[in-house]
Amino acid sequence: MDTTAKRSASVPFDPLYDPMTARKLGPGSDYAPTYWIGTAGTPPADDGPVTADMDVDVAVIGSGYTGLSTAIHLAKMHGIKATVLEANGVAYGCSTRNGGQAQISSGRLKRSEWIKRWGLDSARALHDEVVEAFDLFRGLIRDHAIDCDPQDGGHYYIAHKASAMPSLESETRLLNETFGYGARMLDREELHRTVVRDAEAHGAMWEPDGVSIHAAKLAFGYLRVARELGATVHPDSPVQGWELKDGVHHLRTPGGIVRARRVAVATAAYAPRNLHPRLKDRLMPIMSNSIVTRVLTPEELEAVGIQKRSPLTDTRTLRHYYRLLPDNRLQIGSRAAITGRDAANPVHLEALREGMARKFPALRGIDLDYSWWGWVDVSHDMMPRITGLPDLPGAFYALGYGGNGVMYSAMAGRRMAQLVAGEAIRDLPIFNNELPHEGWRTPFRRLGQWGLYKLYHFRDERK
Ligand SMILES: Cc1cc2nc3c(=O)[nH]c(=O)nc-3n(C[C@H](O)[C@H](O)[C@H](O)COP(=O)(O)OP(=O)(O)OC[C@H]3O[C@@H](n4cnc5c(N)ncnc54)[C@H](O)[C@@H]3O)c2cc1C
Repeated sequence: MDTTAKRSASVPFDPLYDPMTARKLGPGSDYAPTYWIGTAGTPPADDGPVTADMDVDVAVIGSGYTGLSTAIHLAKMHGIKATVLEANGVAYGCSTRNGGQAQISSGRLKRSEWIKRWGLDSARALHDEVVEAFDLFRGLIRDHAIDCDPQDGGHYYIAHKASAMPSLESETRLLNETFGYGARMLDREELHRTVVRDAEAHGAMWEPDGVSIHAAKLAFGYLRVARELGATVHPDSPVQGWELKDGVHHLRTPGGIVRARRVAVATAAYAPRNLHPRLKDRLMPIMSNSIVTRVLTPEELEAVGIQKRSPLTDTRTLRHYYRLLPDNRLQIGSRAAITGRDAANPVHLEALREGMARKFPALRGIDLDYSWWGWVDVSHDMMPRITGLPDLPGAFYALGYGGNGVMYSAMAGRRMAQLVAGEAIRDLPIFNNELPHEGWRTPFRRLGQWGLYKLYHFRDERK
């Protein structure tokens, strides 16, 4: 049975799209050829493209997890029926391309780094926020019967070399003693016996919260819930111009102008740089690639020895994230090209295959059923922001989870809904200031990224 999520796309998918150089995104593109789209089944109905000018109360730009969660919580908590505008098919961006790993995090930084940056009180408050966020995420799936194959069991953060163990041990102590969170260490023998036979692993930190989900089924579930609650969701309606006139935001789409009193931006790394000058270069889009093998044979399953299907990541800065899917295929992802133009260069696929083979020698050379990549919204200080644009009244954004947005985007949407509705939210460093800007360094960022990748690779692979 063909379970591909089909849509009537008028434009083939462009695998080389690059938000740093593109002038526009959409309309009409097909989805990326991901495992998730290949196995999601028929997506729920949407409201079709914008076809005429319209006046709305709240417009949400972007229909990934963040935009849809914003619409869900605007309706649920504030009685506001938002209008969601999406450049291509619903959840065209990261939300149908990720690794499906829900982790107890909101950005790329660890708890010890939170303390260093903001002090203990703020770090504790941020920890409470992500714990609450995980409850919200689980609750959304449970209460709305979102059938996204959740596999609970915690997150295993796996030391890919012996010298990575002490810092995992100290993070585990910190989580327990300072945050009262029950993480624990496993040595290599226990990890191999009870979790995964990862050949390069030296042990792991286990965090009790970690759920693997089907990325596209989660997004399509959010779409169904948002529309059931009264939101309208318009695919193939990219915002291609944005002006504020007499306190009203005029959002130009190919089918008509959407005039909105308030705007919530949820475009992650996918918006071209010209969406609005106030948002330009607040993010550094980083490409990540992902592969899914054919179904493993019983012998391969025995060799891989994965007994927990919840999220696994390793301690490389250029980390691998991997898991065994419900149908016994292995999925693994890591860093990819720096530019869209270089995305299809076979060296990146080969590097990922090699990463998989070092962990699982039995899978060297295995056939792949799926291979794709996508842009991750990394902020310049590695943490997201959910906040307003003070000089653009009525405009807000939730951006910058840096590869950790599957879980936290649910809460980010709720927080953005509160801001849009004029409700005060917690005083946290990810809410009370804006995403940092790179200023004059912008043209050199990719050069810097190239240098950093070389450095990180050297450090990651050094014993
Ligand atoms: C390969 C890969 C693997 C990842 N793995 C994980 C993981 O395992 N765990 C984890 O927590 N996170 C992971 N992430 C990150 C995670 O997917 C994101 O944090 C999350 O999906 C963000 O959701 P979002 O709604 O903010 O953004 P998106 O899902 O990217 O949605 C943004 C939407 O905005 C639309 N858009 C952009 N510009 C416009 C415009 N001008 N007009 C209208 N619409 C517009 C885009 O088309 C897109 O659909 C991964 C990301 C990638 C790319």
